[in-house]
Amino acid sequence: MPQTIGFIGLGIMGQPMALNLMQAGYALQVFNRTASKAETLQQAGAKVCTTPAEAASDADFVISIVSDTAAMEAVTLGPQGLMETLGKGSLFIDSSTISPVASRRFACHAAGRGAQMLDAPVTGSKHGAERGELTFMIGGERAAMDRAMSVLRVLGKKHIYCGANGAGLSAKLAQNAIQATMVEVFCEGFVLAAKAGVAPAVMMEIIQSSMARAALTDFKAPFIFKGDFTPYFPLKLMHKDLELAMEAAYAQSVVMPAAAAVKEVYGAAKAKGQGDRDYAAVITFLEEVAGIEVRSNSKA
Ligand code: NAP
Repeated sequence: MPQTIGFIGLGIMGQPMALNLMQAGYALQVFNRTASKAETLQQAGAKVCTTPAEAASDADFVISIVSDTAAMEAVTLGPQGLMETLGKGSLFIDSSTISPVASRRFACHAAGRGAQMLDAPVTGSKHGAERGELTFMIGGERAAMDRAMSVLRVLGKKHIYCGANGAGLSAKLAQNAIQATMVEVFCEGFVLAAKAGVAPAVMMEIIQSSMARAALTDFKAPFIFKGDFTPYFPLKLMHKDLELAMEAAYAQSVVMPAAAAVKEVYGAAKAKGQGDRDYAAVITFLEEVAGIEVRSNSKA
């Protein structure tokens, strides 16, 4: 008998993760708020459920990956949420990027039902999810992580234990604050150079010949230069992660002045209608203010 996984959230990340688990031989019972997004999984043989509670029912593992803390609240503790059926002895793995404080509360609810919970946020974006090459940052009991590894190995190439419940999320928020800041400041530099008449291709050659070169901006640059902002990671979710990082910083008396400023730039781009595009679309706000388009000057 294959082990059963209740899988909740079939967005950019969840859909390919769920497909990889099916291909690895697990029996999946899936839930997505917008039912049409479950069609591919249904065709692949998954049982489609109409509530998170149904997806979690009799499952050995429950995996969730939804947008934000409010979405997790809804699928976990809302009406017909997964906590209504989460089984004794089961393991609940949440890969959403949400508030560490809220995640610890969900872990307490899981423990109250005799189940274990891990916060296991990811990095690696859509490609990493499709290829089963995500990196997981894991919080919770070490023994629970050991138990989860058979499933997590299907989804990722690296699994890093961070500490108690919430620690995986704390690490993820720090990582995304760094990533958001890198992309935004890369865009600032390219707007400055373009306005001064330095072509993006010339600027890129300079960056790639300098210590400022980074895998992240090497990956994002061709999309930025083409003006292709098909979402790998939606800008509104990056803004959400910066907001969560600010909350975490406040709670721990940490200051993050650069990330705080960058959060406002992502917020401005979101307010200008860029929220559903990739977070690299942050450049469009900087371009609008400067009155120049980097991509119009690009041959990439
Ligand atoms: P996405 O494509 O926008 O998918 C979001 C998912 O959450 C969808 O299944 C959506 O359902 C569900 N959802 C939203 N609000 C809900 C609610 N109130 N109740 C129930 N379900 C709700 O986002 P994603 O890119 O897959 O990201 C998912 C999570 O992974 C986020 O926390 C994100 O920060 C994190 N993450 C993303 C990436 C990336 O590169 N994309 C990388 C690392 C981490 P509907 O289909 O009904 O809207």
